[in-house]
Amino acid sequence: MKEYKHFINGKYVASQSRKTFENRCPVDGSLLGLIHEAGELEVDAAVKAAKDALKGPWGKLTQAGRTELLNKVAERINERFDEFLQAECLDTGKPHSMASHIDIPRGAANFKAFAETLANHPTESFRLDTPDGKGAVNAGHRTPKGVIAVISPWNLPLLLMTWKVGPAMACGNTVVVKPSEETPATTTLLGDVMNECGVPPGVFNVVHGFGASSAGEFLTSHPLVDAITFTGETSTGEAIMKAASVGLRNISMECGGKNPGIIFADCDLEKAIEGTLRSAFVNCGQVCLGTERVYVERPIYDIFVQRLKEGVAQLKLGRPEDKVANLGPLVSLKHRDKVHSYYQLAVEEGATVEIGGGIPDMGDELNEGAWIEPTIWTGLADDARVVREEIFGPCCHIRPFDSEEEVIELANDTNYGLAATIWTENGARGIRVAEQMETGLVWINSWFLRDLRTAFGGAKQSGIGREGGVHGLEFYTELKNICIKL
Ligand code: NAD
Repeated sequence: MKEYKHFINGKYVASQSRKTFENRCPVDGSLLGLIHEAGELEVDAAVKAAKDALKGPWGKLTQAGRTELLNKVAERINERFDEFLQAECLDTGKPHSMASHIDIPRGAANFKAFAETLANHPTESFRLDTPDGKGAVNAGHRTPKGVIAVISPWNLPLLLMTWKVGPAMACGNTVVVKPSEETPATTTLLGDVMNECGVPPGVFNVVHGFGASSAGEFLTSHPLVDAITFTGETSTGEAIMKAASVGLRNISMECGGKNPGIIFADCDLEKAIEGTLRSAFVNCGQVCLGTERVYVERPIYDIFVQRLKEGVAQLKLGRPEDKVANLGPLVSLKHRDKVHSYYQLAVEEGATVEIGGGIPDMGDELNEGAWIEPTIWTGLADDARVVREEIFGPCCHIRPFDSEEEVIELANDTNYGLAATIWTENGARGIRVAEQMETGLVWINSWFLRDLRTAFGGAKQSGIGREGGVHGLEFYTELKNICIKL
């Protein structure tokens, strides 16, 4: 039986309590292995190893030395591509075609891109006049923040974890990662890669377990953790903020969304259909940036609903290795129960189910898996829970609108503020509407087109702070001002 152990100070270690829990594959419910659950003892050992490593060879490495090491890590992930791919697809059930294009290559790229961006970023300098006429010079100097706790979700496990670990390490910090309890495999494997590349022990650590009263809570409340970066649900973010308030630790939060897609009648319909099919259904709808509310200008409303339904009817559910399948299962039966409860609620709230709405019969081999039908609803009121709450499944609600002002108001009528997508061939309108979106990200005529140099993060209840490019510097470093009197 495979065991997923913690990775502490360069070694794989079991929980002293021997407490484990099951890791099951969402494709067919099969048992993949047992995950060790960290207690306070293991979390303490990992945090102390990370603290000590700041003073060891890692702390003495130059920026160029760190960049070289992180480039090696990226290369080694790519050399072990198939192992990472296999591990990610077994944990999540997602198609190989997706993970081989997005999860693994982008997971590796996060080490390269951030090391290079951060190495080339200047700090500020000001000359100050003084009464004696001689003046002073101020120089900004960045130092690592220290031990960073990384709490990551299950939807893009390697990619979203390295999105934080890459810049954290590039800035000279050490990390303790708590991956999602649903998807331990690629984070565990990364420990081995760190050793192979010569990353000093204690720089990268992993502890497994759950959130409350488990590894997540023990880690975020550990007094030697200097800052916490989190991706996950908004309610979890609130719990972590409380933990971080003790000792005034810094936080970076990337949380949930209920993202609008706005389709104007002057859009390129082919592109808008293709883009919305991706934004609502890719990764079985388990993308924080995904579109769950679609607003379509009335003249093309009927044709848009018809065409999107036809697109959904073409989606093929199947095993990760199935070359024609483009949709896997949800991540777990627990998450399927949640998504399915929203499918039932939609009907209770008066939705017209345009397509889907249920649990498919996948045949004996797969029926123990977390499969669900991709679904489109119409006809719900704007205050329906299905229109207001994040579902995180392969589903969307479509509603017509009549004017630009109306759709801006509808799109912004949410507690969330992560991303919006606008489809129009009128460039001025696209920018005008984008400027009025209360979100951290807007795509015009595309979706999920990411440039790692740009800021990433959410407004309102979708997050706090910005990561990406040089923006992460604010979080991952301490900016010190050195004032030199001349
Ligand atoms: P989650 O909040 O349930 O869990 C995320 C992580 O937090 C897991 O590792 C979990 O064990 C840990 N955790 C839970 N409770 C904790 C606690 N009290 N203390 C410390 N750690 C705790 O989220 P999830 O279900 O894994 O992921 C889906 C959510 O993530 C969705 O809401 C989605 O929108 C969001 N998400 C956001 C982004 C973004 O960039 N904004 C990206 C991906 C996912």
